[in-house]
Amino acid sequence: MQFHHHGYVSGDPRIQPAAGVGIDRPTDLPDEVDVLIVGTGPAGIVTAAQLSQFPGVTTRIVERRGGRLAIGQADGIQARSVETFQAFGFAERIIAEAYRITEMAFWKPDPANPATIVRSARTLDDPGGISEFPHLIVNQARVLDYFGEFMANSPTRMTPDYGLEFRSLAVGEGDYPVTVTLAHTAGPDEGQERLVRAKYVVGADGARSKVRASIGCTMAGDQANHAWGVMDVLASTDFPDIRLKCAIQSHDGGSILLIPREGGHLFRMYVDLGEVGPDDKGAVRSTSIEQIIAKANAIVHPYTLDVRNVAWHSVYEVGHRLTDRFDDVLPAELGTRTPRVFITGDACHTHSAKAGQGMNVSMQDGFNIGWKLGHVLEGRSPESLLSTYSAERQVVAKNLIDFDKVWSTLMAKKPEEFENPSELEDFYVRTAEFPAGFMTEYSPSLIVAEAAHQNLATGFPVGKRFKSAPVQRVCDTNPLQLGHQATADGRWRIYVFADAAPAGAQSPVADFAEWIANSPDSPLAATPSGADRDAWFDVKVIYQQDHTGVDIGAVPAAFKPEVGPFKLTYLEKVYGTDPKADIFDLRGIDRGGAVVVVRPDQYVANVLPLTATAELAEFFAPLLQSGTRAPEFQNSAK
Ligand code: FAD
Repeated sequence: MQFHHHGYVSGDPRIQPAAGVGIDRPTDLPDEVDVLIVGTGPAGIVTAAQLSQFPGVTTRIVERRGGRLAIGQADGIQARSVETFQAFGFAERIIAEAYRITEMAFWKPDPANPATIVRSARTLDDPGGISEFPHLIVNQARVLDYFGEFMANSPTRMTPDYGLEFRSLAVGEGDYPVTVTLAHTAGPDEGQERLVRAKYVVGADGARSKVRASIGCTMAGDQANHAWGVMDVLASTDFPDIRLKCAIQSHDGGSILLIPREGGHLFRMYVDLGEVGPDDKGAVRSTSIEQIIAKANAIVHPYTLDVRNVAWHSVYEVGHRLTDRFDDVLPAELGTRTPRVFITGDACHTHSAKAGQGMNVSMQDGFNIGWKLGHVLEGRSPESLLSTYSAERQVVAKNLIDFDKVWSTLMAKKPEEFENPSELEDFYVRTAEFPAGFMTEYSPSLIVAEAAHQNLATGFPVGKRFKSAPVQRVCDTNPLQLGHQATADGRWRIYVFADAAPAGAQSPVADFAEWIANSPDSPLAATPSGADRDAWFDVKVIYQQDHTGVDIGAVPAAFKPEVGPFKLTYLEKVYGTDPKADIFDLRGIDRGGAVVVVRPDQYVANVLPLTATAELAEFFAPLLQSGTRAPEFQNSAK
C-alpha cells in the first residue's frame, strides 16, 4: 500500500484522502448523477465499490431496505471472490472470521441397512491447488459490510442511500438521458416519489428486478422452481461431520447440503423440498421451520439433530433462468448505439444454491461493469467499451447455468439411479475449477486480444484471470505474491517480464522501457498532464534474477515513476524471481521476455513479445482518449 507520499498520514492509511465529488459529498441524493445503482446486494455493492475509486464520477447507490442486510441469503465464497477481496483490501480480515472448506464429505444410504446413512467418500475441496486463496463460508451481510467500508474510505466517501425504491425509468436524450422514478420506503416522506436523472443506471435489484422489466428484458428458462428449506441453526447433534461440508442422500431420495458456518457452532442446512410447479402458487413457502427440522432428522437417521436456536430460515425457491441481454440495447440496435442501462447479478441470472455461485458470479458482474463505467465517465475510454459488459457476462451466466443444471441434477438423484457409485464425488473433483470461479475465459474483443503470442506466457491464458505467483520485491527484499500487489483502483496493469540480461544492460527490456516511458505511441502518453505517470497504467517489471541480482539503481526510470507532489521515486514496482518458485517456470514465461497486459478487473487482455511495441500501441489505441477531466480527479493519490 502506498501512502505518506503526499505528506505524513498519522491515521488509518486505508482511509484515502477525499477527492473530487467526495470532498463535499451531499448527504441527500442529488437530482442529477453520473451513475445510479439500484440495490446494495453483492452485484450492486461491488459496482459501487469500484466506482468509489473514481472521484470525478458522481455515483449513488439506492436500496429499498432501511439499512444494512443483517442476516440470511448466500454464504459460499469461492476462491475467485477471495482473490477479488484481496484487491479491495479485506481478504485477510474476512478469511480470519470465515469458515474454511478444505474437504467435502459424501453420505449415502448404508447398503447393509438403507434406512441409515454412512459416509461414502471424502474429497479434497481443491485437489489441484487451483488457487492460493481459500474457499470460504461467511454470511453475505459481512461481505456487503466490507465493501461498504471500502466505499466509505474511498476518495468519493460513498455510502448507500437507504430507504429508496426504484419504480421505473425512461431513456431519453440530453446529458442525463435516463430519468428514474424512485419512492421513499420509510421516514416522513414514505410513499412520496422523486425523480433522479442519470447518465447510466445499473440494475442490481435481484431476481424480481424492476430495472430488468423497465428495459423489456425477460427471464427465460425453467417453468418450475426448485425449493429448499434453508436454516441457519445452533443444534446439539451426534452427526460426526457436522463441521464439514457434506452432501447427504437418504434412501428415499431426501437430501441435504450441509454447510458449516463461521464461528465454530452455527451450520446451514439446505433441505431439498423438490420441484415446485407453477400451480403451487407459493404454497411451498408455507413450509414451517418445524417441518424442515423434522425432514432433516429423517434424512440424517440414525443421527439426530436437536435444534436449540434458529438464527434464520427461509424457503428458497429458484429456477435456472437467464436474460438474453444484460443491457438496454435491443438486438436490432446492436452496433448503432451504446447502452445506458445495465442489469447485473440475480436480475439477469438465477440458478440453484447447490454450487454456491449466486453471490460470487454477481460480484464479478459488478467488477466487470464498474471500471468500464469509470473509464468512460472519466473520459479515458469511448462509450463502445460499455458494450463489452453484456457480451462478456451473458456467456459466463449461460455457462454457469449449464454447469449448475448438471450438478443439481446429480445431487437430486436417488442412490440407485447413479451409473457408478462415485459419480457425484468424481464430478465434484473433476470440475473443481468451475465452482472456484476460474473457468471464465473472455473471447477476443475491444479489451481482449487474439492470443497470437500465447506461447510466450502459457500460464497467463489471454481472456482468463491473471493467476498470481511468488516474486521478490527488490527494494525491500520482501517475498510477495505478484498478483496481490494489484488493487481495485481501476488501473490497467502492464507486467514486463524481462529477458535474461541484468538490469541496466542494453537489452529488449531496456528498449521497451524507453518506448513505454517516452514514445508518443505509448499508452502512457494518454495520461493527463499533471497526473502521476502511473495514474492510468501500473507498469511493473519482473527480472529473471533474484532480488540480490537486480541493481535497483540501474533499473530504467519507466519502472520507477515519480509520484505525488514531492515527485518521490516509487521503487515498489521492481521485482526479482523467487529461486524456490520461479515465476518464469511456474507460468511458462519465455526466457526472452514477454509483456502481459491485465485489465482493471484482473483478466489477462494481451500477451506480447517485448519488441511488439507497435502491437501494444494498436491494442490500446481504440481504448484511450485523452482525459477530459481535471488532473485532480485522476487517481493520482495511488
Ligand atoms: P440481491 O442480493 O438479491 O440484492 C438485490 C438488492 O436490491 C437487495 O438488497 C434488495 O433489497 C434491493 N432491491 C430489490 N428491488 C429493489 C427496488 N425496486 N428498489 C431498490 N432496491 C431494491 N443464495 C444462496 O446461494 N443460498 C441461499 O440460501 C440463498 N438464499 C437467499 C434468500 C433470499 C431471501 C434471497 C433474496 C436470495 C437468496 N440467495 C441465496 C441468492 C443470493 O443471495 C443471490 O444470488 C445474490 O445475493 C445475488 O446478488 P444480487 O446483488 O444480484 O441480488
